[in-house]
Amino acid sequence: MSFIVAIDGPTSSGKSTVSNFIAQKLNFEYIQTGAMYRCVALGLLQNNIQLNDEAKIKKMLNNMNIKFLNDRENQIVIMNNKDVTEKIRTKEVTDYTSKVASIILVRHKMLEIQRRMGQNSNVIMEGRDVGTNVFPNANVKFFLTAKPSIRARRKQRELEKIGEKLEFSSVLDSIYKWDKDAIERKEGALKRAKDSIYIDSSEMSIKELEEKMIDIIKQKYKEKDNYGWEK
Ligand code: C5P
Repeated sequence: MSFIVAIDGPTSSGKSTVSNFIAQKLNFEYIQTGAMYRCVALGLLQNNIQLNDEAKIKKMLNNMNIKFLNDRENQIVIMNNKDVTEKIRTKEVTDYTSKVASIILVRHKMLEIQRRMGQNSNVIMEGRDVGTNVFPNANVKFFLTAKPSIRARRKQRELEKIGEKLEFSSVLDSIYKWDKDAIERKEGALKRAKDSIYIDSSEMSIKELEEKMIDIIKQKYKEKDNYGWEK
C-alpha cells in the first residue's frame, strides 16, 4: 500500500523546490506532473505534430517514455532516453504546454500513467489536479500558493538560470495569464481540494515551508497502519 502526498497550486508557488527536497528527505518518489505535460509539448513541437492531429498525438503518446531521476539540486527529466530537463523549461515549450494540456486525449493518457506511478511506491506528486483528479484519496493534500508578485520574481529567476532574461512586468503578466488559464480550463482545472491544507508561502522561507510540510506528512504517516488505514 503506497502513501501518496498530493501538492497542487499555481505556477511558481514553490511546489517543485519543496517537493524535491521533501521527497529526498522522506525517501519518496517525486513526480512532477507539469514536467510530463511539458514533455508532451516538446515532443509535439519536435515532431511537427499539429494539435488537432489525434492519430499522430496518440501514436506519439504510446511511444513516449518519461522517467524522473532525483538529484540533490533538482530533478532530471528523461524522455525517450534523452535528458530534456532544460529543453522543457524554455518559454516556447512553456507557452505551448498550456495548449497541449487542454487536449482531453493527452490528459487521459497522463492520468493513466500518473495513477500507475503511484501504485507501488510512496510518492510526492505535484501539479494542478493531483488532489482533485489524479488521487482524490491521497493521504495528504497540500494547496500551495503565494502572491503573484512573489511568484513572478521566482519565475524570473528560474528563467534567468536557463539564459532567458525577461522584464519583471512581462513575467508578472504571464503569471496572471497562466492563472486565468489554469482556473478556467475545462479539463484539469486548478482547483483547491476541499480537504487540502492551504499554505501561502509569500512570507515564508523555503526552509520554513519544508519543515512545516514535513511535520504534517510525518504526523499523517504515523496515523496510518501498514494497510493505509487510519489507526
Ligand atoms: O507545473 P508546471 O509549470 O511545470 O506545468 C506546466 C504546465 O502544464 C502548466 O502551465 C499547465 O498548463 C500544465 N499542467 C496541467 N496539469 C497538471 C500540471 C501541469 O495542465 N497537473
